[in-house]
Amino acid sequence: MRIGSGWDSHEFKSGVPLKIGGVDLPHGQGLAGHSDGDVLLHALTDALLGAVAAGDIGSYFPPSDPKWKGADSAIFLEEALRQVRRAGYEVANVDSTLILAAPKIGPQTGRIQARVAKLLGVRPDQVGIKAKTPECLGTDNTRQLPAWRCCSCRWRKSVRRTKRNQQKRSSRGSAADSANAADFC
Ligand SMILES: [Zn+2]
Repeated sequence: MRIGSGWDSHEFKSGVPLKIGGVDLPHGQGLAGHSDGDVLLHALTDALLGAVAAGDIGSYFPPSDPKWKGADSAIFLEEALRQVRRAGYEVANVDSTLILAAPKIGPQTGRIQARVAKLLGVRPDQVGIKAKTPECLGTDNTRQLPAWRCCSCRWRKSVRRTKRNQQKRSSRGSAADSANAADFC
């Protein structure tokens, strides 16, 4: 079992589309960045890489490399997922919190959850998407500092289950399940 965390922030900028979690959102401003500025996918990428101690997003996609100018951040997440699988793990769940004043994320949560789940190859109920306004964080709360904090990823070793293993697991009962549940944060 591995847990990773990732964090990211970008500034709003006029004239660019707003993309969060691989979803285009209707808003007057987008997020400035070398790539498409998708803070959620950047934070998730770092969380996945961190969970298997495989570096960070900058070590694979340096912003100094013009190759990644305007890149779709799904590419970054796909590479992180590749590293996770290479290490012998798979994503069990991810959780995230968006900190921004606008736009309202609530109505878009389902779309973002579905898109992130598809990119990670998991079910939507394995993807937590939450949003908070940045009150008392030293910002003026005028849409200038959006940030995603992705703080909980749980992993499990990819093991092909045999019938015998399944029987062993079921005979151990719920004790093992309870121990696993304690690994959530
Ligand atoms: Zn970023």
